[in-house]
Amino acid sequence: MSITDWFRAREDKRYTPVNGAGPKADVPEGVWTTCDSCKRIIYEGELAASMRVCPYCGHHFPVPAHERIAQLVDEGSLEEFGAGITSSDPLEFVAAKSYVQSVSSAKEKSGLEEAVVTGRATIGGHPVIVAVMDFSFVGASMGSAVGEKITRAFEIAVSERRGIVFAIASGGARMQEGMLSLMQMAKTAAAAKRYRAEGLPYIAVLTNPTTGGVTASFATLADIIFAEPGALVGFAGPRLVEQATRQKLPKDFQSAEFLLDHGLVDDVVARGGLRERVSLVLDYLMRPGGAA
Ligand SMILES: [Zn+2]
Repeated sequence: MSITDWFRAREDKRYTPVNGAGPKADVPEGVWTTCDSCKRIIYEGELAASMRVCPYCGHHFPVPAHERIAQLVDEGSLEEFGAGITSSDPLEFVAAKSYVQSVSSAKEKSGLEEAVVTGRATIGGHPVIVAVMDFSFVGASMGSAVGEKITRAFEIAVSERRGIVFAIASGGARMQEGMLSLMQMAKTAAAAKRYRAEGLPYIAVLTNPTTGGVTASFATLADIIFAEPGALVGFAGPRLVEQATRQKLPKDFQSAEFLLDHGLVDDVVARGGLRERVSLVLDYLMRPGGAA
């Protein structure tokens, strides 16, 4: 390299963006999204077309409930039930804002009545009950309404001999409802047990994040547990576990991949292949077009 080339290369380098971080763009909100993982800026339309998976690094973004349903079930097959079930405010709970206010602003923002959407649908032609949780609704925490909808999902699946496919996300129990929220763990776990006694298949897809009382109840009682890449799945957060056990935790503790290596998760499946994989499992476990 000549000395002039060396100076030119040095000059070019000076203007190369560091770590591909990309320019800081002054763009209207809602049109562009910054990837939480690689920090690249993605056009919202491109993100919607890629099932909310970053086209650069494969990071899986959260998916609103109805978008998830469209990704997962046969087109137009959803027949929602329990849409009118909403939580009450038994403790008249007030923190930074009242529980009633939190729920009503969540309803307004998400267009949902609760943190889970339940319904009858078909996947690959198999009759199933689906429940899809939406993390944007009070952290998809499980209060009495979520617990009741999940329980009904199991009960209807038993009476109609349907498979179950749940796409789960949750910050845990909805502590604003106190004991009523914690009771949902026992209630949903009992419903899952009655369902499983029927020999019908229960497939859970754990998405980022699945934690707390939901992990500790129905989410991990499935026959087949899939998780999305990079999903955080655990009970308590890593810092709390570290304090309680007084041990240094392994890297990527509570990630989907770590839990696959340790046997809690059956497979890590990228969102693009999820419908096909769930459909394949239903082919194995259910009679064509009918019950197990
Ligand atoms: Zn990315």
